[in-house]
Amino acid sequence: MIIKIDNLNYVYNANTPFEKKALDNINLEVEKGEFIGLIGHTGSGKSTLVQHLNGLIRVQSGSLYIDGFDISKKETKLKKIRQKVGLVFQYPEYQLFEETIYKDIAFGPRNLGLNEDEIKARVIEAMDIVGLDYETLKERSPFELSGGQKRRVAIAGVVAMKPKVLVLDEPTAGLDPNGRDEILAEVFDLFKKGGITVVLVSHNMEDIAKIVSRILVMDKGKIVMDGLPRDIFKRRQELEDIGLGIPQITKFMQEYKARGHDINSDILTVEEA
Ligand code: ADP
Repeated sequence: MIIKIDNLNYVYNANTPFEKKALDNINLEVEKGEFIGLIGHTGSGKSTLVQHLNGLIRVQSGSLYIDGFDISKKETKLKKIRQKVGLVFQYPEYQLFEETIYKDIAFGPRNLGLNEDEIKARVIEAMDIVGLDYETLKERSPFELSGGQKRRVAIAGVVAMKPKVLVLDEPTAGLDPNGRDEILAEVFDLFKKGGITVVLVSHNMEDIAKIVSRILVMDKGKIVMDGLPRDIFKRRQELEDIGLGIPQITKFMQEYKARGHDINSDILTVEEA
């Protein structure tokens, strides 16, 4: 098991008038090599949950194991956790800061204390995975790039850490449909190469339906559904009740059929549901 969460609770601003329970008794087991889609309305707790996975938010109560490693213990070093779990934030391009693309992607591996040859090999590999040409781009400034390209640099920086778990929080937000599809295809290729477990956070049903193998639905800090995409999408009324867009699904289903797609084709059963 790569992720094991028991009775995880999280409260923001405890004991103040702004107290807010963001996670309510989360229990979850994820096997190595699963591709998880995490969906839910804004404020349902998705970001709070995934920030726990790489130690950005430390456990208040409950337990959390990554690859058998207890990260709920206060003494567990963040560096150890981040080697296992890479988190790509929403709009990660805002966190680029180095003067060249090479340096930006190399930043994490360099912090791991790797030698320059290994760092370079990782930068080349990560750029290849996200579809950036190493030779033409390595010395360019990340700030000269388009939005989609900047995002690729940011994702490459996390991929270059070779995490066992890759968490992407709304990786396609703000991109046009082509940019969205490209980023998703790259993530899917990385996944297919094997060895990595992916958690994709999205409120975009199309993105989720295209590539994930298991969907978790959050509402009010709880995981309220957990299953195969085709089974989750059949539960239309329940999804609608928690603010998850059915029109979006229907539209997607039509486009999906029109394009003659076959990945996850089982989900087409939702039309009969
Ligand atoms: P999602 O990612 O699904 O939109 P979040 O995890 O961001 O949900 O938020 C869960 C709940 O916690 C929401 O009610 C949100 O307002 C609250 N929350 C999130 N971050 C903070 C914070 N830094 N301080 C106080 N409350 C927060």
